[in-house]
Amino acid sequence: METVNPKVPFNPFYRCAGPNCGILKKSTDRWWLMWTSFGDYNRPVLYLCPWDEEIAAREGTLHICGELCAQKLQSQYMGNVRESDLKRSSR
Ligand SMILES: [Zn+2]
Repeated sequence: METVNPKVPFNPFYRCAGPNCGILKKSTDRWWLMWTSFGDYNRPVLYLCPWDEEIAAREGTLHICGELCAQKLQSQYMGNVRESDLKRSSR
């Protein structure tokens, strides 16, 4: 049986979310996906997983061209978390 998911466009264009990157994904490139969620832990969690078309099409997913951009985004994420921690404790 053929499954058609109308939420997943057939040939979408993805750009790397890495700071100062923004390269366009080619269909053969093996990229990564990152997203943040509060999940079940009631605190921000950073997810990283190998490319998956369905997850890639989800809202809020970051598309990452490689390790370097993943590291930059991870550091950005950690900075943001620290910053909001500081804001909370200084209140
Ligand atoms: Zn990149």
